[in-house]
Amino acid sequence: MKNQAHSNLVPLRLERELACLRELSARVGNDPLLVQASNGNTSIKLERILWIKASGKWLARANQEEILIPVDLAEARAAVEQTGKMVERQVSRNRMRPSIETAMHAVLPHRVVIHVHSINTIAWAIRLDGLDELRVRLRGLHWQWIPYSASGIPLAREIEMAVARAKNANVFILANHGLVVCEQDCTAAEELLCEVERRLVIPPRSFPMADRVMLGNIARLSGWQYPDFDPLHGLGTDKEALKILKGGVLYPCQAIFLGEMLVLPPTIFASGLTAPLKRGERPPPFVVVERGGVMLNENMTSAERANLIGLVGVIRRTKESARLRYLTREEVDRVLNEGGRGYRDEAETESRGGSATTPAFDEEREAAFNRNTCFS
Ligand SMILES: [Zn+2]
Repeated sequence: MKNQAHSNLVPLRLERELACLRELSARVGNDPLLVQASNGNTSIKLERILWIKASGKWLARANQEEILIPVDLAEARAAVEQTGKMVERQVSRNRMRPSIETAMHAVLPHRVVIHVHSINTIAWAIRLDGLDELRVRLRGLHWQWIPYSASGIPLAREIEMAVARAKNANVFILANHGLVVCEQDCTAAEELLCEVERRLVIPPRSFPMADRVMLGNIARLSGWQYPDFDPLHGLGTDKEALKILKGGVLYPCQAIFLGEMLVLPPTIFASGLTAPLKRGERPPPFVVVERGGVMLNENMTSAERANLIGLVGVIRRTKESARLRYLTREEVDRVLNEGGRGYRDEAETESRGGSATTPAFDEEREAAFNRNTCFS
């Protein structure tokens, strides 16, 4: 089994703990309400080593291929304190790099850390009143609100300050980003994740139906198709959704995987679909047709598709009346310039490479998306 790649380095009792983390990672990674494509990451600290998901790997595949990479914990912590740069010396034999969030995992004192892009959490974490709303919902838990900060060392430093303020904190709501829960073992961490999800659940609203005649006409142009997954079309048919999305970028993965949303008028003809593109530009993964629905480009990757489904999930849980905090232009530029595009490329390479195990967005996953509770 591929997951035994490091077993000659790890005593048996520690290998059991790694096996638990892999099981947990696969469960979390297979829930589209928690993880989309390669985002989210898990880790465990065993003696002086931090075992963390490698960048670009999919948690969902934790039981099929090696996704964990060992990092020297002291070096990772020193990077946060001193250099401000993550040490990437420990690239494994198969050239895996540690997750961009390694620094955040390293500064947390708990043994097991789970970071997810929970749809329910994000729907709260993009609201200007999110902190006040969560005070009620998370009462009794040891939680902290972390203001938006770029992934990597800046986010790690915010988390470190939060831990200094509240030593018991083991739930972190990352504004415009997601959720972190930590505990001393995998079972306790998974239970805590489920408890937070249970408290933060928001029933999704339904969207008007797609105009399939309109979309069918556009689909005559080869290269574009309309998806059978109805909720996606709400981006074009639901006035509230359109207004929310036109406001800007709500969280980093939206910018990395989906880019600027192209909204076309309902009168668009098939040939006009790519007209707004500059010569030689790659077509966008999807376009929104006002009052019609959504069209997907045939070259859309499974990582982009997973992130689009995630975005729709957030919008279905957000009301137009909610006051939202969008990322600033500078924040979006930073996401894209500091590794965001490379991160997308890695995720897409992984999504192509693992065709046999790619968590395709089949009926089962789409049904799971329509649920409203945690994976267990
Ligand atoms: Zn993240």
